[in-house]
Amino acid sequence: MPHYETIIGLETHIQLNTKSKIFCSCKADSWGDPPNTNICPVCTGQPGVLPIPNKAVIEKGILLAAAMNSDLRTVSFFDRKNYFYPDLPKGYQITQYDMAIGKGGYMDIPTTNGETRRVGIEKLHLEEDAGKTIHKPNRRLLDFNRCGVPLIEMVTGPDLRSADEAAEYLTRLRQLLRWIGISEAEMEKGHLRCDANVSIRPVGVTILNPKTEIKNLNSIEHVREAIEVEVKRQIKAVEAGEKIESWTLDWDEDTQTLSKMRSKETEADYRYFREPDLLPVRFDEEEKTAILAKLPELPLARQARFEEEYNLPEYNAQVLTSERALSEYFESTVQAYAGKAKLHKIARQVSNWIMNDVLALLNEKELSAEELQLTPQHLATIITLVDEETINTATGKDLLLKVEASGKSPLSIVEEEGLAQVSDREVIRDICAQVITENPGQVAQYQAGKKGLIGWFIGQVMAKTQGKADPQGARQTLQELLEE
Ligand SMILES: [Zn+2]
Repeated sequence: MPHYETIIGLETHIQLNTKSKIFCSCKADSWGDPPNTNICPVCTGQPGVLPIPNKAVIEKGILLAAAMNSDLRTVSFFDRKNYFYPDLPKGYQITQYDMAIGKGGYMDIPTTNGETRRVGIEKLHLEEDAGKTIHKPNRRLLDFNRCGVPLIEMVTGPDLRSADEAAEYLTRLRQLLRWIGISEAEMEKGHLRCDANVSIRPVGVTILNPKTEIKNLNSIEHVREAIEVEVKRQIKAVEAGEKIESWTLDWDEDTQTLSKMRSKETEADYRYFREPDLLPVRFDEEEKTAILAKLPELPLARQARFEEEYNLPEYNAQVLTSERALSEYFESTVQAYAGKAKLHKIARQVSNWIMNDVLALLNEKELSAEELQLTPQHLATIITLVDEETINTATGKDLLLKVEASGKSPLSIVEEEGLAQVSDREVIRDICAQVITENPGQVAQYQAGKKGLIGWFIGQVMAKTQGKADPQGARQTLQELLEE
């Protein structure tokens, strides 16, 4: 349906990775813990208790607001959002309303056609989570572990134009949250939750039509699928002359269908007012500077710098900056290895080793780059050994695994196992001559024109040297001897 445009806004709830909850000292991350084991009088809303703000939550909020290009409010307020629900023991949620920590902002995301989509941020505020209701036949069970877990709610403007763009935004947001170290951002564990607001309009029209809100999207893939299903439904309805109503829809991942939920409360139903038990959140320029000093170079900026500074192809730069630890591993290796050739050449070589061998290792062992025993210095040493032809490439790849498995230095393994390449010309020549003498049949075939056999001869030489011969040298010597 090319004559309709899709309008999407995403509402995300980000669980911060602090040790304790937002207003008490209970453990924040209860993943896998038995129900109601991380609770206290404060987070279960007992009479007479007072909340105490967690400084780490405020700092992480400031970091995200800065990373999203929001204006930071040096004075912000907490408010009460009142509603009654069994998993909200206080009867209200402490959140931020009109004077939140961040004001406005945007995130730029690359789109598939090579352009950049600027996604505006309409809301960015701190709040506490509610508990969890577990529905069983004829009864409801309540788990309050999640009460008071720190969240940032972030709402985009209606700026995304396709299910793919929505997925890209979430992928980039997840990357950013992990990069700046404020959330584990695992959607399956509820660290990053997303609702999607979807509407359509004829191309060229600028008004916004009523939107529907899709809930219960537990992965980026589900966000994409649910939006696609909903856009098709809306187009079909409009084409049939029906009106789109502002429903809240529930995504069922098993059947890939949407069903209508209860109608949503309006803002007025929440009767917001300032939280009287908490002082305003204030920080001065000095504190702000100290916190923002912890903000690293952001993923897209680092990707652009890698392309520019190291002359890497876009794809390589993107893979190497997919995680902050990996990007730092790359730069440390380049630095450890630098000084021998031009930076661009070094960078390309390091990038190839990391993308081919180190990434395979990381995936297999499910590790992050910072957890490797194979340090950037070790990797730089291995690349140098291959460069200087002390070992051949195959041995280098093998050595990399041995260093990771043992934690020993590459040089000590090369020495212990006698891995240094046999590059002494005389020795190679003797071994090649031996192979030729032992295999008259293959020699005859080769000399009769079956030149492809050269690979087989090289294999024999490699076998006799336990893989330590330089294959290029062996090829040359064998060719010389066979042509004689
Ligand atoms: Zn508590």
